[in-house]
Amino acid sequence: MPACQKYQNPAKLFERQCQCAGLQSKNQVWYNKSSHSHGDNPCPNTFQTTYSPDRPETIYCQECYSKEVE
Ligand SMILES: [Zn+2]
Repeated sequence: MPACQKYQNPAKLFERQCQCAGLQSKNQVWYNKSSHSHGDNPCPNTFQTTYSPDRPETIYCQECYSKEVE
């Protein structure tokens, strides 16, 4: 399950791009269960997250995250 963006610690926010590559996460850890609005292309959404770029978690934007958890 991909992790979602979180705003718990606003002192450390990173601008990151959604890790959704279309059919799966960019690191191939998560395979999407449903199709997203960006289709087979990588998701262009960026967002502020407390997950730093060197964290291992797969981070999806709110839109992609909600598609996978619904
Ligand atoms: Zn996305």
